[in-house]
Amino acid sequence: ELYNKIIELKGNIRVFCRCRPLNMEEKARGDGSVIDFGSAKDGGLIVKGHVSSTKLFKFDSVFSPEEDQEAVFKKTAPFATSVLDGYNVCIFAFGQTGTGKTFTMEGTEEARGVNYRTLEEIFRIIRERQGLHHYEVTVSVLEVYNEQIHDLLLSGSEPGVASKKLEVKQVAEGVHVPGLVEAPVTNMNEAWEVLQTGSKARAVGSTNANEHSSRSHCIHCVMIKGENLVNGECTRSKLWLIDLAGSERVAKTDAQGERLKEAQNINKSLSALGNVISALATKSQHIPFRNSKLTHLLQDSLGGDSKTLMFVQISPNEEDLGETLCSLNFASRVR
Ligand code: ADP
Ligand code: MG
Repeated sequence: ELYNKIIELKGNIRVFCRCRPLNMEEKARGDGSVIDFGSAKDGGLIVKGHVSSTKLFKFDSVFSPEEDQEAVFKKTAPFATSVLDGYNVCIFAFGQTGTGKTFTMEGTEEARGVNYRTLEEIFRIIRERQGLHHYEVTVSVLEVYNEQIHDLLLSGSEPGVASKKLEVKQVAEGVHVPGLVEAPVTNMNEAWEVLQTGSKARAVGSTNANEHSSRSHCIHCVMIKGENLVNGECTRSKLWLIDLAGSERVAKTDAQGERLKEAQNINKSLSALGNVISALATKSQHIPFRNSKLTHLLQDSLGGDSKTLMFVQISPNEEDLGETLCSLNFASRVR
């Protein structure tokens, strides 16, 4: 009666839910929180809408606003080991703009996020395995905007010049992106420098960097070639770190021209992603990878023995209840 929705997730697909704190303005206004973390145990949270719509959601992990970057990383660290063991891994942040996608993935200098910490962990394990394994690491930075893939390591040569457009090709070994810059890196500092260069290039050619970043998918890819020096076994794997475009719905009346096209493309790619992950989770015969550039790009890193982690980012604010329920319901489709 109280709990009319229970979501359980299994297999190689994990969903973590993270809720941001109320910010200063919201607190000053006296806005209320509609998320209850206390009464639902073990990965649960309760959304207290109107009494009739009180819902329980269950995830593999739930992070309340009090939980810090370290607490989040404790649950994501095992994915670094998986990549070095030869598995493809995709980590996504999904949610409404302003809910902490970039905070969770990129983080800040004072509070490093999943991207930084996972890379650091990768290089730590590489050192630990020295003598037993040899690894080569390359990194790429891409963006999907309006259903076009751009290489952010090739852009920014001149301000205002659009970055290089890329296509996805199907080859025997999987997906290939001809021309994609794959920068070789040997330590954390090098890797982070390249990734920062890419992130900065995102803003080039856009009048409002923040708005642009909320309307495009920002993608970091870490490619790892491994060789087991004991038995000669070789592996190739990819870690994808993806800060998705904001999932908020845009009222048709508010959006025209370019803005409407952006909104339609975001909607198209986020629903394509949801459809692919839910088709994989239900072991469906047909997985519709080709329905968006993002899912096509990730085709050989989603499904099979790949590991997928989706952060569903939410706001605690009552004002955002509609979008929060949309995001939690999206996550429930990914079952
Ligand atoms: P998004 O990328 O989803 O649009 P941001 O990551 O930019 O959202 O977050 C919006 C604001 O909220 C930022 O100022 C960010 O620092 C802050 N924020 C988000 N999540 C947290 C958190 N868990 N703890 C503290 N501050 C947060
Ligand atoms: Mg962001």
